[in-house]
Amino acid sequence: MAAQETDDHKYVYDFSEGNKDLKDLLGGKGANLAEMTNLGLPVPPGFTITTEACQAYLATGREPDGLAGQIETHLQALEREMGKRLGDPHDPLLVSVRSGAKFSMPGMMETVLNVGLNDQSVVGLAAQAGQNDRFAWDSYRRLIQMFGKTVCEVPGEEFEHALDEVKSAKGTHNDLDLDADDLRGLVDAYKKIFAKHTGREFPQQPREQLDLAIRAVFESWNAERAVLYRRQERIPADLGTAVNVVTMVFGNLGPDSGTGVAFTRDPGSGAQGIYGDYLANAQGEDVVAGIRNTVPLQELERLDKSSYDELLSIMARLEEHYRDLCDIEFTIERGKLWMLQTRVGKRTAAAAFVIAGQLVDEGLIDEDEALHRVNGAQLAQLMFPRFQLDHEFEAVATGIGASPGAASGKVVFTSARAVELAAEGESVILVRRETNPDDLNGMIAAKGILTSRGGKTSHAAVVARGMGKTCVSGADEIDVNVPAKRFTVAGQTVDEGDVVSIDGTTGKVYLGEVPVMPSEVVQYFEGSIDAEHVDNPLVRAVHRIMTHADGKRRLAVRTNADTGADAARARRFGAEGIGLCRTEHMFLGDRRELVERLILARAAAERDEALAALLPLQRADFEEIFREMDGLPVTVRLIDPPLHEFLPPLEQLAVNVAVAQERGEDVAKEEALLAAVRRMHEENPMLGLRGVRLGLVIPGLFAMQVRAIAEAAVAVVRAGGVARPEIMVPLVGAVQELETVRAEAERIIAEVVGDSGVEVLIGTMIEVPRAALTAGQIAEAAEFFSFGTNDLTQMGWGFSRDDVEGAFFWRYLELGIFGISPFESIDRDGVGRLVRIAAEEGRAARPGLKLGVCGEHGGDPDSVHFFHEVGLDYVSCSPFRVPVARLEAGRAAVETDGSDSR
Ligand code: ADP
Ligand code: MG
Ligand code: MG
Repeated sequence: MAAQETDDHKYVYDFSEGNKDLKDLLGGKGANLAEMTNLGLPVPPGFTITTEACQAYLATGREPDGLAGQIETHLQALEREMGKRLGDPHDPLLVSVRSGAKFSMPGMMETVLNVGLNDQSVVGLAAQAGQNDRFAWDSYRRLIQMFGKTVCEVPGEEFEHALDEVKSAKGTHNDLDLDADDLRGLVDAYKKIFAKHTGREFPQQPREQLDLAIRAVFESWNAERAVLYRRQERIPADLGTAVNVVTMVFGNLGPDSGTGVAFTRDPGSGAQGIYGDYLANAQGEDVVAGIRNTVPLQELERLDKSSYDELLSIMARLEEHYRDLCDIEFTIERGKLWMLQTRVGKRTAAAAFVIAGQLVDEGLIDEDEALHRVNGAQLAQLMFPRFQLDHEFEAVATGIGASPGAASGKVVFTSARAVELAAEGESVILVRRETNPDDLNGMIAAKGILTSRGGKTSHAAVVARGMGKTCVSGADEIDVNVPAKRFTVAGQTVDEGDVVSIDGTTGKVYLGEVPVMPSEVVQYFEGSIDAEHVDNPLVRAVHRIMTHADGKRRLAVRTNADTGADAARARRFGAEGIGLCRTEHMFLGDRRELVERLILARAAAERDEALAALLPLQRADFEEIFREMDGLPVTVRLIDPPLHEFLPPLEQLAVNVAVAQERGEDVAKEEALLAAVRRMHEENPMLGLRGVRLGLVIPGLFAMQVRAIAEAAVAVVRAGGVARPEIMVPLVGAVQELETVRAEAERIIAEVVGDSGVEVLIGTMIEVPRAALTAGQIAEAAEFFSFGTNDLTQMGWGFSRDDVEGAFFWRYLELGIFGISPFESIDRDGVGRLVRIAAEEGRAARPGLKLGVCGEHGGDPDSVHFFHEVGLDYVSCSPFRVPVARLEAGRAAVETDGSDSR
């Protein structure tokens, strides 16, 4: 340990000083190298320069005071430990200089190997390696190449070009066929390229090489691609990277050396076993660069049994220590194994569930921890239908999986064509370089959207996610030519009308129609697969974790359902009631005509007639739902949308009237409709005559609905069932509104219910900001609150959902005004604050007030955690999101309980 730092702020940590929990300071790579060192695993000695040093450098443009001295101290200690000096002409110590941020940013930042080589030490290295000239010159040419490219911005192609020339002069494609002389010549060529681009000779001073490489790693934090990646992955921009200085070990010393990568289990399926690639006689990047064909790691057993056995035992040790799937990088130098990196490895959604289940079985984690290790986004992914890829299909391009799902269809290049073909019943995939708000109609019409540019926050991605439509964005291998109506990819041309398939989960693009298969997880939820008796590790793991989540969660999960069929499906998915039954959906179809009569009624008698005709229809709907829910609570919302939504659009009516008049037909009815539509036209319908306001101005409307609900409940009870209706009044902003509705409703209920024993609760939505702010008053007249967070978001922010998502959200996301659409995940600071206030003040006024949420936030993982924290009783979401909400409610419970009781 090197301890005599002069400056008081510590910027450099020896590997023996760190540990895995210091990722903020040492980056993931540095923290894990330290952890492995402390475990006694064979890690080449080295030290880590902290992210704080990087932050200081990036803020001021120079290395902070004390850093140079601390590096010197640690370097000297390293030299003593290794018995070599950096760049010594006879026996040089060489090091790698490696980036490593808190969050892994694969391939985004820089690493330089073989630092310390120069015209003299290359000779010393060869001598030390047993007169292995080839190896020494290979290492030197790699240094110049990497240093040139990453430290001095020399275009990498020039080096690659020079290497190709030497190879083709030799008549080979394999770099192993180059001998020491070829490589010495290559070093000369590289030095010339270096000098040409930098205006200086390749630096021969080892310490200067080291300092410049460290600085380059600091600066790589702000390289354009790193900035873009961080924005996409929502990694904060101010973290900085650590820099690891690691003693070089050599996988390129001959056939008994090599380098490889491995996973401790299959990161694709979660299956147990060793997964990895090995490349003999190679250094560092060669494995992933694909310059030579790697062999499966199992081959190593044959090549070098003792290293293989040691590797396996280290991997087992790491799994036990990290209690999770790990991925590793290693190098074998003449039969000696060295560990160069490990971290908890990334995995697919399926593997996440399977591995969490296995680790419980293996006794490494408990069920709470297993629950914590998976999430609702992964579960949602597993519920989409998937492509069945067992045969010939190979992806032609890979973009960003921007909105999940599997979609096949005919390629179109314009919004207009998408709309046209979709109207003919075709499935279409809209392909664009990037989309803009003008493409909205085409996006709605399409099965899926494919773009060649843009990331997870591009217009296409944001809008597609909002619509729940499959989208692959930024597939930059495809070259889109809209005027010519075609795109090219991998040397093939795809014309308008050709079929492609896109996978919005993996980002992969296939030519032709890939068959789709249903999700086995959905089949399990629906009861067609029995988890206890199926030999499917994924289904078993999902079952086990869901069961645990249900046991732990405090939030109940209800569903939004308007029909008996929806209600039945949601129950199979685990819904414990209906949180939102929208009655307006019962006014559509052939009932529209009755609604028209209601709206057009000029006399009370006409209106009452229309309402009387609607009553039995509504009653039948409610009966069906109550029966389906069999005693579970059912919240019915009285009619909410503006009534003109039930009438034909103005333009269409105007045309009809004109045409009919031309023909001399009787147009009295059309004219009356047209007049009504004109009269009812609103500039801002979302802020107009809707919700409770309708109930207060249209006599008998709410009364009819209340009666239908109460009668349906009584009918179910009289038939021996149980019904628990809850009547919900929408859009209340003042307690007086609710009191007025309530008085009438109570009168009707009392009259209908009689001695049947039916109990009907009356409550309100909290979706107007004023309602949230006067919740204490409103609670006096409400037995429950249900937060309508869509409207609360809409009115809280002052933008209408229908208008903004396509118009400017992509820009707001790009600018970071919000990190995610507030319609997708609740805005905790603003809209969430309204929820908190209403919950607290409502419960203060009426202890035991039942609190829930309806609207899509109820199925959004992050929002579910928020509602748990606020202490609501339940969330309600669409049937398909019910399992996601159950899982996340369980996670929220184990996470908060975990941190409370420690
Ligand atoms: P990345 O973060 O892109 O994986 P790394 O810093 O891990 O970059 O390094 C790139 C490659 O160089 C890896 O294959 C790694 O194993 C190898 N490497 C890094 N340092 C050394 C070293 N000291 N000796 C041998 N190989 C090394
Ligand atoms: Mg690495
Ligand atoms: Mg609403």
